[in-house]
Amino acid sequence: MTKLNARAREELHWAGISQAAWARQHFQDGHWHGDACGCPDDRCVGHHHDENDDCQCLPALLTDRLPTSGGGR
Ligand SMILES: [Zn+2]
Ligand SMILES: [Zn+2]
Repeated sequence: MTKLNARAREELHWAGISQAAWARQHFQDGHWHGDACGCPDDRCVGHHHDENDDCQCLPALLTDRLPTSGGGR
């Protein structure tokens, strides 16, 4: 099972989501089967971006997930 890298953990931390919650949100068994960068696609690194490049998927997914500020009424 792939472990989230430091950057992914930091992104989740700032979004206020635990690694366990992030894993549960994407995978039924609650284990992380995605890539180290935090993308639920386990081949993200090398396909969506280079190993040394920042993942654009994770911030996009996190933004998606946050409630839009000021809305909801
Ligand atoms: Zn990705
Ligand atoms: Zn990625």
